[in-house]
Amino acid sequence: MTSNVLGMTTSTPVPTGPEGAISPEGTVTDRLVEANERYASAFTDPGMDARPVLRVAVVACMDARLDLHAALGLELGDCHTIRNAGGVVTDDVIRSLTISQRALGTRSVVLIHHTGCGLESLTEEFRHELEMEIGQRPSWAVESFRDVDQDVRQSMQRVRTSPFLLHTDDVRGFVFDVKTGLLREIDPA
Ligand SMILES: [Zn+2]
Repeated sequence: MTSNVLGMTTSTPVPTGPEGAISPEGTVTDRLVEANERYASAFTDPGMDARPVLRVAVVACMDARLDLHAALGLELGDCHTIRNAGGVVTDDVIRSLTISQRALGTRSVVLIHHTGCGLESLTEEFRHELEMEIGQRPSWAVESFRDVDQDVRQSMQRVRTSPFLLHTDDVRGFVFDVKTGLLREIDPA
């Protein structure tokens, strides 16, 4: 691979920081695997089944600055987390929510978008650029947006109107401020 539209590659060597004693020659994935070995060495079986304790599914952007469990006071086993670029309610998110509700007992849905989202700086032109580069237009929409509040409202609407979901009465949407850590609730109206 020489380049791609986003200018990113994967499995690049880890920049060695102050604590860089961890696999200084390794890839980022090597570092994660080493971290997992330490995690597992202190891990005890929590004895839970797969049904989320709080019966809630959280749909959020994949943004690296959003630590869902810390930001929402969630513990292991509490919730389902469904994440993608933008926290967009795509068909695949509806698939996960449907399984979450019908097979695993969740009842509430929380949608979290955030300030400074990468999707605000993209347009549907992104698909055209991909087509120009690789000769194939993706089947998916970029789902870029300009108004984050409106984007949350649209996401809430998609969940509320899905015919596949059992529970659409408790669907709330928020914008997470990456500078303050605070959630701001969006009025669905
Ligand atoms: Zn985002």
